Amino acid sequence: MQSISPELLFRGINAWYKSLPEIKKISHRPLLLGKSEKTAFLRNKISQDLEKNNLKVTSSNLKFDCCYEDLATLKDLILKNNCDSIIASGGGKVLDAGKFLAESLSIPVITVPLSASTCAGWTSLSNIYTRNGQFIEDVKLRSCPQIMVFDHEFIASAPRRTLASGIADALAKWYESSSTSSSIDDGLVQQAIQISRVLRDQLLINGEKAFNSQSVHNLSWVNTIEGCALTAGLIGGIGGEKCRTAAAHAIHNAITQINSTQKNFHGEIVGVGILLQLRIEEMLNDNKLAGQTIKQLSLLMKKLNLPTTISELGINVFEDKNLEIIAEFSCRDNSEIHYLPFEIAQKDIIEVITNFEKQKIKL
Ligand SMILES: [Zn+2]
Repeated sequence: MQSISPELLFRGINAWYKSLPEIKKISHRPLLLGKSEKTAFLRNKISQDLEKNNLKVTSSNLKFDCCYEDLATLKDLILKNNCDSIIASGGGKVLDAGKFLAESLSIPVITVPLSASTCAGWTSLSNIYTRNGQFIEDVKLRSCPQIMVFDHEFIASAPRRTLASGIADALAKWYESSSTSSSIDDGLVQQAIQISRVLRDQLLINGEKAFNSQSVHNLSWVNTIEGCALTAGLIGGIGGEKCRTAAAHAIHNAITQINSTQKNFHGEIVGVGILLQLRIEEMLNDNKLAGQTIKQLSLLMKKLNLPTTISELGINVFEDKNLEIIAEFSCRDNSEIHYLPFEIAQKDIIEVITNFEKQKIKL
């Protein structure tokens, strides 16, 4: 069973207003879910618009993360207030929490991303973390959201750091799916991989322009935000379980196990993961283009102000057994890293990260 896309997608300027009649058809008492104080003004506006349309809104925020503690509290709130849908409005954690809760209560979910930092507004997947942000597991859901609202004016109000993070996460689609799934003899998977290649090319061409413009009237920006939040989700939908993530996300999941001195976004960690995956492929799979690709990606990442090493994520891998923890978590039995088409062991991760952190990438 595969769920390829949201049932309805509203995109562009005024997408939010255009979606209201459809939201009214499936909901009378929504839970409006958010997290960040910085986007509270947008949720206030959303709430007012819903109330004007005679919907009874209950508002709540994630306290910690998309974690089982928050999910349990919210479930009680939804039941107590008899909410008949969830409108998840925020970043990836909020969207994932809204989707997970809606599925467990068999009510519809409407996703309203407030940045282009992930494709979580589209997909039928929720990543679960601890309350401190350590990755636990990803949960496959029955379906993509009933309605996704991708309002460009909402996205334009997000800090551009969220866009850089979204670009890194979307780039990972190509580097991960092409290395894990290119030998899979399934037409749809092959097509998904090719979409991810076109998306990569568009991000390489438009990414920097988009990062520097942040305007709903700039085509590079529009194509980039939609690539990160929509196309990246579509690739997951078409490719399904066979179009897999690989080392970049496995290393992301491992890095979240370490306490950092700074708060990193998902895509910022995944971006470092892509560079490390390429080094792994160079070392263990004789990928001769890896060095070239690392230079090309690092150049873009620096222009987007993205970290390119684990130390730039605020983590010193050479203290507190951090390196061993990352290697162990990356290589645990059910890790996506084992979808790579060659054997990989903890000692390989340790070797690659040690060399990587010590060298300065020459551009
Ligand atoms: Zn991701």
